[in-house]
Amino acid sequence: MRLANRVNNINPSFTLQMVTKAADMISQGIDVINFSVGEPDFNTPKHIRDAAKNAIDQGYTKYTAGKGMIELREAICTKLKRENGISYKPSDVLVSNGEKQSLYNACQAIFNPEESVVVFSPYWVSFPEFVKMADAKPILVNTIPENNFEPDFSDLESKLNSNIKGVIINSPSNPTGGVWSNAAIVELLKVAKKHNWVVISDECYERLIYDGEFVSAEKLNQEHNIGATVVTCMSLSKTYAMTGWRIGYAVGPNEIINAMSKIQGQATSCANSIGQKAGIAALLGDQSCVEEMKRSFLNRRDLILELLNDIPGIKCAKPNGAFYVFPDFSTYLNRTANNKLLKDTFDISGYILDSVQVVTVPGDGFGAVGHIRFSYATNRKIIKEGIDRLRRALDMIEE
Ligand code: PLP
Repeated sequence: MRLANRVNNINPSFTLQMVTKAADMISQGIDVINFSVGEPDFNTPKHIRDAAKNAIDQGYTKYTAGKGMIELREAICTKLKRENGISYKPSDVLVSNGEKQSLYNACQAIFNPEESVVVFSPYWVSFPEFVKMADAKPILVNTIPENNFEPDFSDLESKLNSNIKGVIINSPSNPTGGVWSNAAIVELLKVAKKHNWVVISDECYERLIYDGEFVSAEKLNQEHNIGATVVTCMSLSKTYAMTGWRIGYAVGPNEIINAMSKIQGQATSCANSIGQKAGIAALLGDQSCVEEMKRSFLNRRDLILELLNDIPGIKCAKPNGAFYVFPDFSTYLNRTANNKLLKDTFDISGYILDSVQVVTVPGDGFGAVGHIRFSYATNRKIIKEGIDRLRRALDMIEE
């Protein structure tokens, strides 16, 4: 069977592979500690689950409008005004099967073959692949680890070319947890405006910022009168512990949203109707559940940071958002364990998994040499046990 070239051109979701590997080991009865999860460990709050149950009983089990139920798009506009200070009409909103589909749609609707798109490294694994699936080319630009992984604007300058049509940004970031300053976002928006790029802003971790306030890129765009074209993509997944419900959305200029809707309409028709009803309850209902989950995440972040930084040779900066820490394991590179040379973080993560059954995600997969991603969306007891095992594994690495 000769498959389409695009299949060979893209990489499989490698974080999903780690999750699958962990699940396989658990199903074999192995006592695994999993720091690879990219989702809250809490159940979806009860009032949201109840809304979904009612939706089924009341017959909201049919196709909806392609862009999403009008009530949900209105709720999204209410939320954007309330929390982000930006105004949109329901016709400027597209509800998707998770924000991942919004991001995919945006790349399909905006980029042509031969065009290039700036992606900042370390990047969420799907960004370069979305670009490649649109037959466009990702241009990887460095960030500065000591500076919350903000863009290295001199590297960006050195990579400018006339084929660049857009840029994807993601603050708070997966995998680093880094939150860009407003000044960095403003600078990036100005570069985008100057070169006429579309900015795709992935803001799925907007509610998980521990110090200071989240400010949406589009809000800064308006406040500073920059006039860049911004497509904002957001999700209910992380904010309301709703990863399995698959509800995300995009807002932006009507022409782009309509183009994205056209693509989505032919791919999946609409997002799932029950999830959409649940989404209305999430966005318009009591928000204290979000603050409660955030308090737990903050508490866990501080615990994992303290434990990691206590291990000789590991440096872990304090990330201000999401639920990931991204320590630097460079001191363990090019050393030997179990007679095997640890030449990159794939090797180090593999060794940690084999020796103490702790699942982590190698930073090399995100374009970040020497770093390993740990998700702390798991309870304190597991964090303590997992980092204890990690320490034992690292102790056995030869000098
Ligand atoms: N963007 C980033 C940076 C993510 O980490 C994820 C999920 O892990 C998504 C988007 C996708 O979220 P959703 O569940 O809404 O598709």
